[in-house]
Amino acid sequence: MQKNDMIELTITDLSVEGSGIGKFQGMTFFVKDTVIGDVIFAKIMKLKKNYGYARLMEIKEASPNRVEPHCVYARACGGCQLQQMSYESQLAFKEKKIRDNLIRLGGFSKEELYEVMEPVVGMEHPFGYRNKAQFPVGYDRDGNVVTGFYAGRTHNIIPNTDCALGVPVNRMVLETVLSYMRAQRVSAYQEATGKGLVRHVLIRCGFDSKEIMVCLVINGRELPGEGKLAEMLKKIPGMTSISLNVNTQKTNVILGRETRTIWGRDTIKDALYLRNVSDFSRTGKKTVYQISPQSFYQVNPLQTEKLYSLVLDYAALTGKETVWDLYCGIGTISLFLAANARKVYGVEIVPKAVEDARKNARLNGIGNAEFFLGKAEEVLPEFYGRAKAGGAKEDMLHPDVIVVDPPRKGCDEKCLDTMLKMRPGRIVYVSCDSATLARDLRVLKGGGYEVRKVRGVDQFGETVHVETVCLLSRKAQ
Ligand code: SAH
Repeated sequence: MQKNDMIELTITDLSVEGSGIGKFQGMTFFVKDTVIGDVIFAKIMKLKKNYGYARLMEIKEASPNRVEPHCVYARACGGCQLQQMSYESQLAFKEKKIRDNLIRLGGFSKEELYEVMEPVVGMEHPFGYRNKAQFPVGYDRDGNVVTGFYAGRTHNIIPNTDCALGVPVNRMVLETVLSYMRAQRVSAYQEATGKGLVRHVLIRCGFDSKEIMVCLVINGRELPGEGKLAEMLKKIPGMTSISLNVNTQKTNVILGRETRTIWGRDTIKDALYLRNVSDFSRTGKKTVYQISPQSFYQVNPLQTEKLYSLVLDYAALTGKETVWDLYCGIGTISLFLAANARKVYGVEIVPKAVEDARKNARLNGIGNAEFFLGKAEEVLPEFYGRAKAGGAKEDMLHPDVIVVDPPRKGCDEKCLDTMLKMRPGRIVYVSCDSATLARDLRVLKGGGYEVRKVRGVDQFGETVHVETVCLLSRKAQ
């Protein structure tokens, strides 16, 4: 067996990254763009000791779960991994991914999960759901300025102005930016040399408000003819905020620290509706948010409404409770909770997001939410220490509920440790990576908590990612 050999494989499983898995002569092969049940011909690309990677060349027999990808770039682009799978089988994959991680890394038994896991919450339309897109800007082979997406595992740009997961206005914005760049001879940033000006175009669209924000990330402080750019962009219906973000670092991090508005407002608004958790229909209650370019805001607003409504349901608030909302971003979950709690304390590391959170509380007439800037693993122990010494309020020491919604790396050990010391009655854990969730649940279980409910919410159709929400309660002692 060697590189470039053609082999026939039956796909029997999927890796967590969404690659199909098949066996040939005892070796395990990973093949992108395949579906469980496919029988395929593949070309060996890379051989390791016990496994290898192969490229899909021909489908001999298609799995019943295979569908025609929606987007012509689906195979080349690194953004979607599951477009060739029917949406139902994507959901089954995601539910299995959560379950496997909880068993393998969280020490759960199958029986235990059977008791607590509820069916994954799917989307009505798994395309056109993203309210945010960050398109890299660069050059094609002929030296033309292009925007697009990175090809899988690389930083080569596939020219594209229209992502199937995003909103139609993205195209208009990108074409406007490109024609401005061509007319004004503005250069695109090149990663290899660190030269060139325009790095990324960030577009956000309020699904409820229809407000649009465009932020150009530039490798410098000025954009030649920026007035012209604003002039052109502001003609797009809904345009509300146009800004420049300065990022002169040689880094993969998209946004720099400094943002300057060149037209319109600094932020856009959007609203999220509370939903009935029985059928996920919208109630009339909504919370309004203002969002800065730098702030985190969930990318799939319709599914976020379901997710937050589940968080509120799991928190089981009666109006008397004190709640900590750790990793609170612009206060989205905090404000959902505040209407039903006595007091909510939010903690967030990004200064602009905390600013937004405070403004959002005022915007919604909420007076019982307070926000603190800092790392959850520092702010929480500090308050705990102070409260114990009598320097902070008793309710901060022993809240009724703690909600956490950390980034992919999960919660810091110090944060988990303090949560356990605070002995809340319930913990609601929202996670975008079920592997780190599993690791953290193991710690919380060891500290006297029981997992009551686990539910996946699909925020990212066509990709391998899935959000999980989990309810833990303190065991009676
Ligand atoms: N709950 C919010 C945000 C979730 S995303 C929402 O649903 O919109 C995770 C957030 O955690 C981001 O806003 C990020 O800036 C913040 N964050 C990352 N590390 C952190 C830390 N160590 N302490 C506090 N916040 C952190």
